[in-house]
Amino acid sequence: MPSEFDIIRRYFTRAAKRALLGVGDACALIALEPGTVLAVSTDMLVEGRHFLAGTDAAKLGHKALAVNLSDLAAMGAAPRYATLALALPEADEPWLAQFTQGFFALADAFGVELIGGDTTRGPRNLCITVIGAVPPELALRRDGAKAGDEVWLSGCTGDAALALAHLNGRIRLADAALAHCLARLHTPVPCVALGLALRGLATSAIDVSDGLVADVGHIGERSGVALELRYAELPRSRALKACADERLAQECLLAGGDDYELAFTAAVDAHGRVAALGAELGLALTCIGSVSVGEPGLVSVCDADGEPMQLERKGFDHFN
Ligand code: ADP
Ligand code: MG
Repeated sequence: MPSEFDIIRRYFTRAAKRALLGVGDACALIALEPGTVLAVSTDMLVEGRHFLAGTDAAKLGHKALAVNLSDLAAMGAAPRYATLALALPEADEPWLAQFTQGFFALADAFGVELIGGDTTRGPRNLCITVIGAVPPELALRRDGAKAGDEVWLSGCTGDAALALAHLNGRIRLADAALAHCLARLHTPVPCVALGLALRGLATSAIDVSDGLVADVGHIGERSGVALELRYAELPRSRALKACADERLAQECLLAGGDDYELAFTAAVDAHGRVAALGAELGLALTCIGSVSVGEPGLVSVCDADGEPMQLERKGFDHFN
């Protein structure tokens, strides 16, 4: 049985590149970059809550880091460092080897360095903190949306929730659609390049993790504005378009969650620049609604006739 220190040495220790001092001491040491502030965010994944026992360890390593990088993306921050606090029921080396393979593949792809963490025995739980850098005046915050702005969405929502609906037996997806949706659920790609490109262009941004309506609602609350989304204009994947259960499709699109796309607001006169950015980055960027004066945080969704739709479920909340 490897000791805690064997595990740290074998699986989590790599030579520090950017950090002055990485894994191995009481603290890591990182230099501050002139003109920037640190963007810091933590996300926890709990077995039985965020992922099922038996989930592929490499995918878990990817996703645990991806959901954190998504928060840096939403802030317009450049990823730099991560720490990893890990509880494991046992010192399962094949699991650790796979987990770190998934984790470091994504970390390398985004230039993120693992600089520390904690390793303990307990119910499986992964808690990652990421640290990014952003010039303070360019950080994409949730509180900058203005009445009159447009609301934009990268990619499309609903696919991860559709995969879950399949796994729960609520629908049966065809093979190609299932493969697409499972990849969206298990190996989301954080929109880091988009977040960086939106600096100075978006007035606010959020990553869609708990459902589109709930998450744009957070922009509304923080900015003191209401938002209106146009249901017919929401982008839909081929898998979602093929979903015959219209109620489920609506729920997935508006409240599914686990999407890790960016929703953001931008001034109307920036419309052309945002559209051009989509082409430049090879990303679908869709204008899905508008910001208005109104009850802060209120999100209304209109159908093709402009009539407000009644929504049953807005998003995911761990306590409701
Ligand atoms: P301490 O006793 O100071 O808390 P630990 O013995 O827990 O330190 O950890 C030793 C070193 O290994 C520290 O630098 C810590 O940041 C690092 N570390 C522990 N677990 C992990 C992990 N899962 N991933 C990355 N670094 C880790
Ligand atoms: Mg420790």
